[in-house]
Amino acid sequence: MERDIYDEDHEAFRDVVKEFIKRYVTNEKREQWDAAGEIDRETMLAAGEAGIIGLSVPEEFGGAGMLQDYRFRAVVNEEVIAAGAGSLAGAFGIQDDLAVPYLVHMGTEEQKATWLPRMATGEVLGALAMSEPGAGSDLRGIKTTAKRVEGGYLVNGAKTFISSGKTADIVVTFVKTGEGNRPDAFSILIIENGMNGFDHGKKLHKMGFQGHDTAELSFTDVFVPEENLIGGQEGRGFIQLMMNLPLERLSIGVAAASAAQAAFDWTVAYTRDREAFGERIIDFQNTRFQLATVSATVEALWAYNDRAVKAYGESKLTAEEAAKYKFWSTEREWEVLDTCVQLHGGYGYITEYPIARAFLDARVHRIYGGTNEIMRDIVSRPFAK
Ligand SMILES: Cc1cc2nc3c(=O)[nH]c(=O)nc-3n(C[C@H](O)[C@H](O)[C@H](O)COP(=O)(O)OP(=O)(O)OC[C@H]3O[C@@H](n4cnc5c(N)ncnc54)[C@H](O)[C@@H]3O)c2cc1C
Repeated sequence: MERDIYDEDHEAFRDVVKEFIKRYVTNEKREQWDAAGEIDRETMLAAGEAGIIGLSVPEEFGGAGMLQDYRFRAVVNEEVIAAGAGSLAGAFGIQDDLAVPYLVHMGTEEQKATWLPRMATGEVLGALAMSEPGAGSDLRGIKTTAKRVEGGYLVNGAKTFISSGKTADIVVTFVKTGEGNRPDAFSILIIENGMNGFDHGKKLHKMGFQGHDTAELSFTDVFVPEENLIGGQEGRGFIQLMMNLPLERLSIGVAAASAAQAAFDWTVAYTRDREAFGERIIDFQNTRFQLATVSATVEALWAYNDRAVKAYGESKLTAEEAAKYKFWSTEREWEVLDTCVQLHGGYGYITEYPIARAFLDARVHRIYGGTNEIMRDIVSRPFAK
């Protein structure tokens, strides 16, 4: 069925993204990112120049001012993932969906003016650090502390699994500024790369998203000036996190739908081309039936996706709805990817093929952004009231 959420501005923007991909997302580049375990800064700067990142930065700070209209970000996800560059899509998402929104929605005017113009161009890259070695799902269990000292905070602790953690210039960091685990015991600080006592631990080796860095971070008596307290308000960190999590979950859902569509397209092309027993693979009834199921799933994914994107644009996507879409879409994505790998036979297991990489990338969609068990918990809590 035809999708109807995009208008001609989005389609014109799609052409810009396709042009960018033609120039910057070559096989050679992708191999280089995978080997380095990170996206090179040149590519991020080129994306800034082309207006592909910084979409969520307000126009007055040099961006496209499209934080509320997620359709432009969705176009980037669809096209970059279709080009087999999940890692690049991930790096773009961390900048626009995870880091920038904290500054746009909650930053002080000074924080916005300091960081946003350079985040729009890719000169400053951000990351979001919530998870710790001992606390992921249970974020109130974090141990990283920020102790009030004259002029700022002294931060001690460690974070792990931080996407863009090695390459980021600033890390939006969830810390404890109070006692206990009440919501007002937490705050968010911008910790800058190069601050004394801020170290990057090992770069983590993942099964998927090979070209996007995921790092451990450690903080030993890092002095963070009070100007870097997000929104200038202590004790608001938990609420600030809750405000942005629906967008993070929407973005994972969009990536999941995009990957499912791409997998379907690659698999139709592959099974038309490959032969066995004197026939094309696509001519076997099993293949066509499997593809019919995948095609219906992809259709349903887009229908749900487009409703979620629209609801977000109208400020109506609740925490429960975002969580529901996140777990449902990533589970459908997983089924689709698994079927499509199978239809590729042995080549489906070889990472030279985009289907194998997309399969490995997809696995974490059910884990990060809040695990799907936590999503089900959020969705079902109101039922029990
Ligand atoms: C590649 C990658 C990138 C990531 N990027 C980031 C990032 O940029 N920033 C960041 O802050 N974090 C990031 N994360 C961390 C991610 O969000 C966490 O791994 C995730 O939230 C789960 O936390 P955990 O690993 O501590 O698992 P745990 O919380 O230890 O969970 C282990 C298992 O127990 C289940 N479980 C836990 N609590 C409950 C419950 N109440 N009910 C039922 N089951 C439960 C979980 O669902 C899971 O199956 C990333 C992780 C990965 C792998």
